[in-house]
Amino acid sequence: MQESSTHFSVNPADLPSPPAAVARVVRLASDPDVTSEKLGAAISSDPAFTAELLRTVNSPFYGPKAPITAAARAVTVLGVRALRNLAICFAVRDSLRNSGFRAQDLEVFWEDCLRRGVAARTLARATGVVAPEEAFTLGLLQDFGMLAMLRASRKDFSQWGRWREMLPAARKEDELSHFGVTHDALARMLGERWGLPTLLVESMAWHHAPSDPRVPADARDLAKLAFTADLVGVLLSARSAEALAAARAAITEQFGIADADADRLLAGIAPEVEAAATALGMRVSRQPSFATVLAEANRTLVQMNTSYEDLTRRLEATLAEKEALMAQLGEANAALARLAYFDPLTGLCNRRHYDSLFRDVLSRASAEGKAVSVVMVDLDWFKSVNDTYGHATGDAVLRMASQSLIGACHDADIKARLGGEELAVVLPNTDAAGAYAAAERIREAIARGSVSTNSGPLRVTASFGVSTFVGSGAKVDIERLITLLAEVADKALYESKNSGRNRVTMGGVIR
Ligand code: GH3
Ligand code: MG
Ligand code: MG
Repeated sequence: MQESSTHFSVNPADLPSPPAAVARVVRLASDPDVTSEKLGAAISSDPAFTAELLRTVNSPFYGPKAPITAAARAVTVLGVRALRNLAICFAVRDSLRNSGFRAQDLEVFWEDCLRRGVAARTLARATGVVAPEEAFTLGLLQDFGMLAMLRASRKDFSQWGRWREMLPAARKEDELSHFGVTHDALARMLGERWGLPTLLVESMAWHHAPSDPRVPADARDLAKLAFTADLVGVLLSARSAEALAAARAAITEQFGIADADADRLLAGIAPEVEAAATALGMRVSRQPSFATVLAEANRTLVQMNTSYEDLTRRLEATLAEKEALMAQLGEANAALARLAYFDPLTGLCNRRHYDSLFRDVLSRASAEGKAVSVVMVDLDWFKSVNDTYGHATGDAVLRMASQSLIGACHDADIKARLGGEELAVVLPNTDAAGAYAAAERIREAIARGSVSTNSGPLRVTASFGVSTFVGSGAKVDIERLITLLAEVADKALYESKNSGRNRVTMGGVIR
């Protein structure tokens, strides 16, 4: 906007200036009292300009009914205003030829200027809001500030390649970040420096905000045309779905033109751009037909959809991966818990878990006056199993004995591996007689089981020691009780070993 021009650090003298002869015509034509004779005479004094002018007004783009061969006649046929506009176009073109930009870069820029000029002229014809020639000049010049900006800041022209495909809002952000000024503000500086008619300057300066209340009333329609022409220019360069939507919306909203008519207008622009270039002695590449523009815009839509689908697919894959990771984490946690509580070889409770469960059972039993029994189990001659068959067979025997023990016990019993080949069972609510029966069941189950080896099935036996606690309701020292029960059972187990193994010895009852 206007305010931002204060940030622009480039000297306005760096901006291109118009050739003197053309400037004189522009000045003369802007005088409301000028006559066609006077203007014709001024033009005739510059033979190069006269030749250009006659060539241009006789071109198909201007399409006179009969050929025009003299400057004064051109003024009469075209009118002062149209002539003035032509003079301005020449001026701009010529000043840029000497601006130091490479010819091929300028060609690309001109292409966009011409597209805007033709779009503005087409819309002016369709709506009748302003003179088509006035609209053309405006369209041609409205983005001139961009070029001045690139030139004055000596930035790489490649910036234009990006800008021409950007929608105005994004482009202006970019301009602000690069230059601290936008091209509509610069257009005012340039227009004033060049002595362009006020109406033209105002409509260029406001072409990105045609509805702003500060826009002078007589410049409003031109600003609307320029605003819309800009979006048409972006559409023809970017050929994207969003540019198409923006251009259609502007045509419909600014001028109340129906969608179908908007497309018809858009379709007429490409051939006229080529004709306008020829008329002004400029070169422009072959313009894409509107059908091509539509097809390419649709392709960007398909690409957007494809990348959307692709994103969705990747998101789903990521979610699935996340779920798999969560499941793995859950399993890892469960495995950790198992490791914390259970012996990995046998699946029995480990010592720590056994101790804690044992403590709970004992506190309940002492409080409720119930019995608890402990059965200590030690495999017989287990060392020789390892020595004879190897450690792996030893492990298999341990697993087999554990499974036999589990099968012979109740669910509520606490079955543990205390270390090595020493197993233990805590039997809640079980007195000495019950514990003896259980120990016998376990003994028989282990003796019945076998592990296969190279030299046939291997059988083992185990020895047992039992101790029992009967609660009285009185408070007891649990830790001491645990130690005592273990000692009594161990002592009984030792007796089993000494009296021939594969047997159960009752250690006694603690009250
Ligand atoms: P006893 O009848 O007197 O108990 O004889 P034993 O051979 O079983 O005696 P001891 O307690 O001295 O031997 C226990 C052996 O158990 C020693 C060790 O090699 C073996 N052992 C301990 N833990 C494991 C284990 O996790 N896997 C295997 N394979 N062997 C183990
Ligand atoms: Mg042992
Ligand atoms: Mg042993």
